[in-house]
Amino acid sequence: FISKLPDTGTSIFTVMSALASEHNAVNLGQGFPDFPMNQELIGLVEKAMKAGFNQYAPMQGYTPLRNILSEKIASLYSTAVDPDSQITITPGGTYAIYTALTTILRPGDEVIIFEPAYDSYIPNVVANGATPVLVNLQFPEYKIDWDEVEKKITSKTKMIMLNTPHNPTGAIISDNDIQRLRKIVSNTGIYILSDEVYEHLIFDNSKHCSILRYPDLLERSFVCFSFGKVYHCTGWKLGYIVSSPLLMKEFRKLHQFNCFSCHTPSQVALAQFLENTEAYTSLGTFLQKKRDYFINLMSSTRFDLLDSKGSYFICARYERISDESDKDFAVRITKEYGVATIPVSAFYRSGTDNKVIRFCFAKKEETLEQAIERLNKIN
Ligand code: PMP
Ligand code: GLN
Repeated sequence: FISKLPDTGTSIFTVMSALASEHNAVNLGQGFPDFPMNQELIGLVEKAMKAGFNQYAPMQGYTPLRNILSEKIASLYSTAVDPDSQITITPGGTYAIYTALTTILRPGDEVIIFEPAYDSYIPNVVANGATPVLVNLQFPEYKIDWDEVEKKITSKTKMIMLNTPHNPTGAIISDNDIQRLRKIVSNTGIYILSDEVYEHLIFDNSKHCSILRYPDLLERSFVCFSFGKVYHCTGWKLGYIVSSPLLMKEFRKLHQFNCFSCHTPSQVALAQFLENTEAYTSLGTFLQKKRDYFINLMSSTRFDLLDSKGSYFICARYERISDESDKDFAVRITKEYGVATIPVSAFYRSGTDNKVIRFCFAKKEETLEQAIERLNKIN
């Protein structure tokens, strides 16, 4: 058997969560909240089920949900997106990314990926017979070096993948980044995949530079979102993708034969719940408080935190504690001190190890306190 993914092992999230439960560790590794989701939204799912919404939803997604998403996009990003031809509900953001890549890529195509990169990107590209072309984000700010991107563009470049707010670093892209991107792709056939699952988890009054704000770029883009991240229900595995009518038509050709349609009652519930705009506009402030609480607690340890401008995550250097590789260090503190994190080198195919680990702070205050109490014991 010749593997399509010979260089791919088990996802670091699976590995670290298994290690966390084996050692009864506080899990600040895999990104998921440990506080309860909104009970009203749960009630709406139950109501939808009881009202009989238990059969297949339309292939492209429940119509009222797509309609209200289009309203949300218009109000947040001032762009008109047609719910019928430009939005598709998907079983999570990961699926949306994979299907978008499969829609576009052919063997031999090149895809620009910034490292550290969310762990599904490279295997998704390789499984489609395309070649990842890696560009390191500039450490420690994790900014994009657009001159480097320009140098790596060839006649085979088919796509550039963006992720903002960024997992694992919490970096965000700015209007300047968008201007550079626009220059690079104009007059080319390069597509953009923009992973924006953390669109609302953005701090310090920063603006989310969604590709949806730029209709000229949306023409050549797929933009991916996740309800799991917005409504604290990562286990629902529900999201959506936005694109141009032309690209979406092609996306749906694959989607209809891979998944067909998504869980109906949760779509019905979300269509109603999205009327409550406060539920998502307040998210940044909510998570920022958690970030700041975490930063404050961490000041008693010998970790040096990097900047986090968005997402669930904050990275930390540990050079004042150890000179181990980040993987060895993350495994050891899970086993010996009972705190699980994610080694950031797991997001680099290039093997870069800046000796940085990622913490997820989307946790109850007592969870964060318990973790830091344990981290303080590291000598
Ligand atoms: N992209 C990034 C950057 C993520 O962190 C996640 C979260 N797991 C996803 C995509 C996938 O989201 P979902 O759980 O909806 O598949
Ligand atoms: N996105 C989550 C993270 O970065 C994990 C999702 C997963 O386990 N696949 O931690």
